[in-house]
Amino acid sequence: MLPVVALVGRPNVGKSTLFNVLTRTRDALVADQPGLTRDRHYGICHHGSRPFVVVDTGGLSGEDEGIDVLMARQVQLAIGEATIVVFVTDARAGLMAQDREILGDLRKRGKPFVVAVNKTDGLDEHASLADFAALGVDRLVPLAASHGRGVDGLMNAIEPHLPDEAPEEVPATEEGIRVAIVGRPNVGKSTLVNRLLGEDRVVVSDIAGTTRDSIRVPIERDGKRYTLIDTAGVRRRARVEEAIEKFSIIKTLQSIAAAQVVILLLDASEGVSEQDATLIGHVLNESRALVVVANKWDNLTKYQREQCEVSLERRLDFVQWAERIFISAKHGSGLRELMKAVDRAYASAIKKFSSSELNRALETAYQSYQPPLVRGHAPKLRYAHPGGTNPPTVVIHGSRTKHLADSYKRYLENFFRKRFKLVGTPLRLEFRDGE
Ligand code: GDP
Ligand code: GDP
Repeated sequence: MLPVVALVGRPNVGKSTLFNVLTRTRDALVADQPGLTRDRHYGICHHGSRPFVVVDTGGLSGEDEGIDVLMARQVQLAIGEATIVVFVTDARAGLMAQDREILGDLRKRGKPFVVAVNKTDGLDEHASLADFAALGVDRLVPLAASHGRGVDGLMNAIEPHLPDEAPEEVPATEEGIRVAIVGRPNVGKSTLVNRLLGEDRVVVSDIAGTTRDSIRVPIERDGKRYTLIDTAGVRRRARVEEAIEKFSIIKTLQSIAAAQVVILLLDASEGVSEQDATLIGHVLNESRALVVVANKWDNLTKYQREQCEVSLERRLDFVQWAERIFISAKHGSGLRELMKAVDRAYASAIKKFSSSELNRALETAYQSYQPPLVRGHAPKLRYAHPGGTNPPTVVIHGSRTKHLADSYKRYLENFFRKRFKLVGTPLRLEFRDGE
């Protein structure tokens, strides 16, 4: 499971600016999807040599409380969940009493931390760091988050604190497709997991390699193996409140990152909520294959079913490529169709293309509809080659590709999707200028 890095610090030091820099997706297309709500507090950083979850603690505990309460709570939260804390300070404001308090708190807890001095742009870096020397820490990391500067230095400071990646318990070939089941509390995740486990239900604590936080549950359905990456679903719990308490975006992100296919479970009677859309945003950011599953179908009238379908149509416009499956985890209906959709999504995610078929597709797409002129010049697309799988990636060479409109990129994406019959997986297009 991915380590967790928490950003803490006084308001206005630049935490959310830094958060945005760290979690910015490399797919501009994903970033601009209409209808997709961005998570402002949780994301995954891919800048360094290994990814980690980033939590911006600013504003997590409500804005109208006194600063001190806010700060204390932030630090508590961060300390509880983080592998390491990035303590952000502000070079322009200089060292403040509250900074000392936060630092004192971090020290008391013995949590590893890194001190970053932000807003060093336009200042004498040496002088601004000197101001913070009074904190008595070995190393201060200069940042100018709003200019995207200093991130490499920050990565160098963070990485020694991250635990080594645990070796895989099971060889990848034996575990089958890795599937994460994610969704809001009470949508039916544990009911589904237990259903999929079926009759010969394994006692979870008996599974090798099981730890409290990450459970990998091997299952077999219709003669095929899968590994369910389960965060809390398997353990039966007593009360509804407990589910809400235990719902953790951090764990959800870790599961998404560890999976090859994500099942996004939602409650059909409630339709698509804001939180569902945000979770799907995380799936897209990680470029994971996706199946959208409406659960509790048994419970609905015909009218409610239609409402659910309309809601899926409207609110999940930005993932039209994901299959929608309707199930009742409680009664076990729709599960076969669900696992088939998982198989299809995975098959699409690892599909390989040859350069020649990509080139032919690109040529047809380009000939039938050319990108509009930019200041009298047309962006040109010359040739394509494969750039990897999971997600399938197409590298397109041309000129002035920076001027390609998003709508044109979507056109190309849809064209390739249709041509290569891709379902359930994101498709990444990378554009390169020259030669
Ligand atoms: P937060 O409250 O800690 O999350 O702080 P924000 O990220 O909202 O930033 C507060 C203000 O500082 C905003 O106006 C940012 O544009 C500005 N800011 C953030 N980073 C920098 C920086 O590196 N340099 C400068 N000059 N301003 C910055
Ligand atoms: P989780 O918090 O996502 O793990 O949700 P649970 O699996 O604990 O389910 C929450 C509640 O929804 C429980 O009372 C379940 O019995 C109920 N539930 C789950 N799946 C279904 C279903 O397919 N139909 C109906 N009617 N209820 C369901």
